[in-house]
Amino acid sequence: MSIVPPADRAYFAAFLDLNGKPGVVVGGGPVAVLKAEALLRSRVRVTVVAPELCARLSELTLLGAVRHEAKRFAPGDLVGAEIVIAATDDPAVNEAVSAAARALRIPVNVADDAKRSSFIMPSVVDRPPLQIAISSAGTSPVLVRKLRTLIEAAVPFAFGRLSALGGRFRAASRRRYPDPEARRRFWEEVMDGPVAELMLAGAEDAATRRLEQTLAGEAAGGAPDGFVSLVGAGPGDPELLTLRALRVMQRANVVLYDHLVAPALVDLARRDAERIYVGKEHDNHALGQDEINALMVRLARAGKRVVRLKGGDPFIFGRGGEEIEALAAQGIRFEVVPGVTAAAGAAAYAGIPLTHRDYAQSCVFVTGHLKKGAVHLDWRAIARPQQTVAVYMGVGGLETICQGLVEHGLAPDLPAALVEKATLPEQRVIEGTLATLPAAAAAATVKPPALLIVGEVVRLRASLAWFGAASCALSVQ
Ligand code: SAH
Repeated sequence: MSIVPPADRAYFAAFLDLNGKPGVVVGGGPVAVLKAEALLRSRVRVTVVAPELCARLSELTLLGAVRHEAKRFAPGDLVGAEIVIAATDDPAVNEAVSAAARALRIPVNVADDAKRSSFIMPSVVDRPPLQIAISSAGTSPVLVRKLRTLIEAAVPFAFGRLSALGGRFRAASRRRYPDPEARRRFWEEVMDGPVAELMLAGAEDAATRRLEQTLAGEAAGGAPDGFVSLVGAGPGDPELLTLRALRVMQRANVVLYDHLVAPALVDLARRDAERIYVGKEHDNHALGQDEINALMVRLARAGKRVVRLKGGDPFIFGRGGEEIEALAAQGIRFEVVPGVTAAAGAAAYAGIPLTHRDYAQSCVFVTGHLKKGAVHLDWRAIARPQQTVAVYMGVGGLETICQGLVEHGLAPDLPAALVEKATLPEQRVIEGTLATLPAAAAAATVKPPALLIVGEVVRLRASLAWFGAASCALSVQ
C-alpha cells in the first residue's frame, strides 16, 4: 500500500489546546468574523488587527470578547501569539502575515490559501465536548459540506451530553475498575445500554442516577429496562419523519404500527426489529385499544425497546394520550416524539397556508368523525370569519359538515378543499365550495385518509400549489 497521499499535501489531524492562549486574527470583514468565532469557541484570547471592523466584530469588541488593534498589520503584532489567522481580502497583507508567522514559528492559517498556511481549518460538527472534524485536504469543499450534512443528521445532540457525562465519571470509573479491560466493558455497557438510552430520551438526571447505580454495582444483572417511544410518523412522505423518529426506530426491537402508517416508514426500522400490525380500528384483525396497551406493557416488561408508530402527530386525534396513560399507570418508561400532523402536511403539499395575514388569523383542528350518523361539533366556535378549519376524519360526514357550517353562518361559496393521501405521490386535491364540495368529492370517489380544509386560504392554492403532477401541468400551460 502506498503511503503517498492523493492530494498534493498530507495533513496531520490534531486538536490543539489553546485555552486561554493569545491568538491573532488579521482582517476585519466577514471571513475574519468566522475565524474569530471559531477561535473564541476554543477559548482563545483573540486580538483582531484591522484598521476597521465590520458590525459583528465591533459588537464582539464592545462585548469584550475580542481585543481590537485598530491599525494596519505589522509583523510585531504577532509577538506572543500562539495561533495566527490571516483573513483580509488583500493577498499582499495575507502573504506578509504568513511570512511573519512562519519566521516566528507560530501556526498560521490564511483563509482559502493552503499554500500560505501551516495548518488548515477542518469543517466541524460540534456536539460539545464532542467534535467531529472533517477535511479533504482542500480537494473537495463541496464533498466535505455534504459529508458534514450527513454527520449532522446522524449524530444526536445528546451524544455531546453523554460524552460530558462520561467525562464526569471517568475518575470514579478508574477507582471502581482499576483493570482497563473491566473498565472498557463497563463503559461499553454505559454507552450501549440504559444510560445512553435515557440520555437520548432527554432524561439527563435519570441517566446520571443510573450511571451512579451501575458504578455502585446495584443495577447489574436482571432483565434490561424496557422503554416505549410513542412516535409520530407524519402524514406519509417518509422525508417528513423527524430525525429523532428515525433514530428511535433504528434502535427499536419491536415496532407496532397501524393502517395510517405507510409501509415505507415501517421499513425504516432496524432490519431485525419485529414489526407488529395492530390494525385498523374497525377491522377484524385489529387489536382493541386495551389489547394494544397491554401488548406494549408486556413487551416493555420483557425489556424490549418498543416503538409505537402513529400516523401524523401522536397527540392530535391519535389516542396517544390514552396509550401513555396506560404506560404511566404501569410504571413503564416512555417518551413522545412529535410528528408532522396531517393538517400541516396536507396544507403544505396542497399549497394552502393555514393562516394568512389577509385571510385567516386563526386555525382550528377538529374531528369530523360520525357518531350514529351525526357529527358532534361546537359549530359556533368553528363557523367564524377569518378562520381556517381543518377537519380530520371528515370524508364520511362531509356533506353534514359542509351543511352545518353553512347553517351556522358561513357563506355557501366559501372555498373548501379535500386533500386525499396528502404528501404521498398519489395525493389528490378536490376543490370546491361548501355548497359544491360534497358532490365533487362523491364524483371523484374520495376515500380516507383525506383532510378537509375550509376557509378563504384555499383560494391561495391557485398560485401556491407546487406538489405533484397537476401543478406541474398547470405551470406548463
Ligand atoms: N394523528 C394523526 C391523525 C389521526 S386521525 C395526525 O396527526 O395526522 C386520522 C385522520 O387524519 C384521517 O381520517 C385524515 O383526516 C387525517 N390524515 C392522516 N393522514 C392523512 C393523509 N396522508 N392525507 C390526508 N389526511 C390524512
